[in-house]
Amino acid sequence: MTPGSRRIAEVYDQVIGRNPGETEFHQAVSEVFDSLHRVLAKHPEYVDASILERICEPERQIIFRVPWTDDTGTVHINRGFRVQYNSALGPYKGGLRFHPTVLLGTVKFLGFEQVFKNALTGLPIGGGKGGSDFDPKGRSEGEIMRFCQSFMTEAYRHIGDRVDVPAGDIGVGRREIGFLFGQYKRITNRYESGALTGKGITWGGSLVRTEATGYGTVYFTEHMLHTRGRSLDGATVLVSGSGNVALYAIEKVHQLGGTVVGASDSGGSVYDPDGIDVDLLREIKEVQRERISSYAEQRGSAEYIPNRQVWAVAEKTSVDVALPCATQNELDEDGAKLLTKAGVAAVAEGANMPTTPEAIRLLREADVLFGPGKAANAGGVATSALEMQQNATRDSWTFDHTEQRLEEIMESIHARCAATAEEYGTAGDYVSGANIAGFIQVADAMIAQGVI
Ligand code: NDP
Repeated sequence: MTPGSRRIAEVYDQVIGRNPGETEFHQAVSEVFDSLHRVLAKHPEYVDASILERICEPERQIIFRVPWTDDTGTVHINRGFRVQYNSALGPYKGGLRFHPTVLLGTVKFLGFEQVFKNALTGLPIGGGKGGSDFDPKGRSEGEIMRFCQSFMTEAYRHIGDRVDVPAGDIGVGRREIGFLFGQYKRITNRYESGALTGKGITWGGSLVRTEATGYGTVYFTEHMLHTRGRSLDGATVLVSGSGNVALYAIEKVHQLGGTVVGASDSGGSVYDPDGIDVDLLREIKEVQRERISSYAEQRGSAEYIPNRQVWAVAEKTSVDVALPCATQNELDEDGAKLLTKAGVAAVAEGANMPTTPEAIRLLREADVLFGPGKAANAGGVATSALEMQQNATRDSWTFDHTEQRLEEIMESIHARCAATAEEYGTAGDYVSGANIAGFIQVADAMIAQGVI
């Protein structure tokens, strides 16, 4: 065992001991650490500077009470989180998730991933993440607004355009960002556009931000396919979820000539052999705020598959590409088996850590191209950084210009992951390419800035 590998094992044990029960966080650390053996063999200075220990420990973890009153006058108490993970490359940047399953460990896993993802964008942003165990499902507009206002009444003191810049994630879209921004503005008495991203276009938002994560994931997939002389044109595709990332992934696949035949929510999936009608799905999810089962009711060609994940659609059709765009650990070994049996050539993660380690292993063994979330879904945070640039210069760019920047960034992330994997003897492995490239950039900046 090399000294670097020994240190990896020791620090991983420390991480488990110090963060008991936070299994998603352990999983995220383990995945990055698995990629670092060759890096530490080549760069002992990272071991000497205790970079592994430092990079796993968030710079700051904030937990706070969020009291709010529902429409009947009942008081509810939720827990708010903001984990300011690493600011070596710039102000903390990363979304807020509102979902009943959110715990500190969830936010830590997402924040840890975010550090490396943000580095890969090549833009000057550090990593952070936040959220709450608040469940927005079934809540009225007024309840959502009061919750967001209460959340920001504490969060405002920790954020700012040079400090920490939150954005959306699961359960936090433009509506919630609006309520959060309004309260931030009211408390601080400053129109500080750059304090939050994902804003509306007329009040400091950027064109393409809404589309960016889904579009970027599809660009990344297209680059992976090109390495094997293939493309999305004519491809049959499955997308899990039907939220922000999924909707725009579906839209971009269709623009590039592929057909998405399956989508889902946490209640079940739809199979639509004619191709998902993305305008109808958007109307159902964002305007009617209905379940995906309504899609099958309103679209003659579609079939609803209750209580099954979208990978079940692979029992009915061949599949070229799968894009998990819903949540963590949603594509497990069984799902991966269905996909490989259906002939899948590429899987790219629109969501954060949606594929279990066992599923990744199985896909790799089947020689399936695999794009990890920290590379494939980095288009969202990259476009958030472009929104910050526009806010800083009081400018607003056109859709075409912004989309072109997004395309260039995704191309460069793909190239960087591919080149890094090659350099470290793991050609074609985007997981190690992304982990190593992101790690080296952050580690070098941390060393340059001293022991802080
Ligand atoms: P949304 O809240 O807009 O959508 C989430 C979607 O996932 C919904 O369709 C939801 O269904 C579904 N979902 C949630 N949990 C489950 C589950 N257990 N099983 C099946 N489906 C589920 O979130 P986003 O689209 O913004 O985020 C999706 C993923 O992408 C997350 O992992 C997020 O961290 C990641 N991401 C998002 C970015 C962004 O810019 N928004 C940027 C980078 C990554 P239901 O309505 O039933 O809950």
